Amino acid sequence: MKRKILLVDDNKIELEMLTLFLKDEYDILTADSGESALAVLGKKYLTISVIVLDIVMPGMDGYEVMERIKKNSLYAPIPIIVVTALDDIEAHEKALEYGANGFISKPFSGSMILHSVRNAVKLRETSAIANMYRRDRLTNLYNRETFFAEVERTVKRNRPGSYIISCFDIENFKVVNDQYGTEVGDNVLRHVANCISLFVNRVGGTVCRYTADKFAMLFPEEYKDSDEIKLFHRDAMTPPCINRPIRIRIGRYLVSDFSLTPNAMLDRAILAEGSIKGRYDTYIADYDDSMRTNMLYEQQIVNEMAGALRDGQFEAWVQPQYNHATGALIGAEALARWRRDGEIVPPCDFIPIFERNGFIYEMDQYIWRQVCINLRRWLDNGRTPLPISVNISRYDLFQEDFLDVIFGLVQEYRLSTDMLRLEVTESAFAESTNTIINVVNKLIKHGFTVEIDDFGSGYSSLNTLKDVPASILKLDMGFIEDSSDSNRGGNILESVVRMAKWLGMSVIAEGVETKEQADYLKSIGCGYIQGYLYAKPMLLDEYAILCKSSDKEPELNKLKTVDTWDNDSFWDPKSMETLIFNSYVGAACIFEYSNGKSEILRCNDKYKEIFTGDFAYDFTRTGVDPLIYLDEDNKAIVSANIQNAIDTKEESTCDVCLSNGKGRTIYLRSSIRLIATTADRYLFYCVLTNMSEMMDAMDKLRAKEEQKRGSKSKS
Ligand code: C2E
Ligand code: CA
Ligand code: CA
Repeated sequence: MKRKILLVDDNKIELEMLTLFLKDEYDILTADSGESALAVLGKKYLTISVIVLDIVMPGMDGYEVMERIKKNSLYAPIPIIVVTALDDIEAHEKALEYGANGFISKPFSGSMILHSVRNAVKLRETSAIANMYRRDRLTNLYNRETFFAEVERTVKRNRPGSYIISCFDIENFKVVNDQYGTEVGDNVLRHVANCISLFVNRVGGTVCRYTADKFAMLFPEEYKDSDEIKLFHRDAMTPPCINRPIRIRIGRYLVSDFSLTPNAMLDRAILAEGSIKGRYDTYIADYDDSMRTNMLYEQQIVNEMAGALRDGQFEAWVQPQYNHATGALIGAEALARWRRDGEIVPPCDFIPIFERNGFIYEMDQYIWRQVCINLRRWLDNGRTPLPISVNISRYDLFQEDFLDVIFGLVQEYRLSTDMLRLEVTESAFAESTNTIINVVNKLIKHGFTVEIDDFGSGYSSLNTLKDVPASILKLDMGFIEDSSDSNRGGNILESVVRMAKWLGMSVIAEGVETKEQADYLKSIGCGYIQGYLYAKPMLLDEYAILCKSSDKEPELNKLKTVDTWDNDSFWDPKSMETLIFNSYVGAACIFEYSNGKSEILRCNDKYKEIFTGDFAYDFTRTGVDPLIYLDEDNKAIVSANIQNAIDTKEESTCDVCLSNGKGRTIYLRSSIRLIATTADRYLFYCVLTNMSEMMDAMDKLRAKEEQKRGSKSKS
């Protein structure tokens, strides 16, 4: 097969002559401008052996073409023979500077042209063979070995701290391949490779592709925070061949310790990169020594874990949960502890490691079994134990036999499904939501109570919650309090509790340490508490003793909503119900009533209109109790109306008159209807009609009539 060469010349006659001399020996591709030469290269660079390039061309001249070729790591290895005038020394020098590999002078001599091209082809092929061993075929970057050799050479010529090794890992590259096909995937890799090469060419250093979608780069420290590097990162993450940006995680190690091999230096960069896996707030991490300490600790844990499980070093502890309103015990959560060399290791030191390497599933199964064993034992001893919640990791939910394991456990220990509650953290829903919702649905169908743990940690929106058929939310005070604005924390708590109630869920607050916190939680409708205020996690046997001496409440209260009411869409600002609530029904509000107190949860725009203007009281603010603004007579009327609506479950109407505090009086007709109820709480829908104008008109009418009567009696 003939080798291919690319001839670039704007002069037609010259092109024809060159072709004539070369066509017997080579396949000829031609381009009549710099631009079209680059276009041909874009498609055929892999097969082109040599480029013959004219310098003087309109538009993009030969120098610019050379510059672009040398900057592109894919084209750069192709030798370039430059066409110049015989005596143009300056052009020769400049062409060499730009990386020309040979010259052809005008006027042309056939044998000279053939010799030059043959030499260049030979050059290309010997270096290609060498490159095969030194370079990666797809991107033409160095391979790992060559890179390490270059790093060794470069780094040690400078003082410690002059260079940084950086690694690049494309996140979810598999998805790119799946979504666009491997050809586009390859182009994305080439794009990234090219961006890194360009940067390194500009600032100095070296680069390689060390595995499929991972690159490494050595570059001078002074560019660490430069605009150049930021620009290059941005370019690398926006490949033009796909219509969305990619995310690249970057780890960096400042080369300060020359006793390390280049391989170990890269490992440190990779360690830094691994530390931000799964983080969405950052894409760059710089190595520090604690990362290595952690890695060594992690290795130790991994070495010991299986043996520790076999030896029974893991224990299920439990933390009791209480109803803060009654002081009664309502259940407990099982928490793992590791008794390691006589010390109790808290789960935060080993659970995240187990979650990474999958061992969590085995440990969790062990804990679940311990809980079941104890529930069975208590039942056999004639007790009626309260439910215990166990933690389910996201990893567990993806295991094929997960459902069989859980269903098998309750069967084996003859437990009813409401005794073993299952906690799934909110963050588990952040990705692959559908798979997880599916599993959770199956658990619920089977009769289990599913709790969403660490709700409010910010991974999913309240909207996700609607699609998750869990019945208990766990709010972590830690997450809420951490928010810098404590007021905001309060609002989040309130809105979550309210939302949860509307969706018919119960709420358990955990991490509650003070009575103030507990009282506040109770005041916003969350009475279930787990935290140091009541009890710390304890051994199962201790818990059994505690249970004996405590009041117990097995059922959690939740608001039971009326079936026909679609709660989910009610809170969605675009939903039909909201539209109706806001546009058609006139002035309306939703309020809660409990033990003589009421509280407005939601009101529409027309409702607000009634109370705008010179009204001194705020009847529209969420959380306000409108009853406190009423005088004794009106209060009695409204209370009786509420009681009537509760008793009859029918719409009930009353009229009240309110003073605005400044001499104006308004008359309101209030029609209310019960829409939901719990033991001591009632939820009402209320429509208000402003009767003031009518009353005014009637007053005037009455006054007129009186006047008439008065004048009649006088006459
Ligand atoms: P979690 O499920 O959110 O558990 C609640 C954590 O809050 C527990 O930490 C508990 O001891 C702690 N805590 C309870 N009350 C208070 C309080 O008043 N103040 C403060 N500051 N903390 C309180 P623990 O036991 O260290 O567990 C940490 C996390 O480890 C758990 O968070 C859970 O995500 C995970 N975990 C624990 N046991 C297991 C298990 O058996 N399986 C799985 N998969 N994860 C577990
Ligand atoms: Ca939990
Ligand atoms: Ca939690």
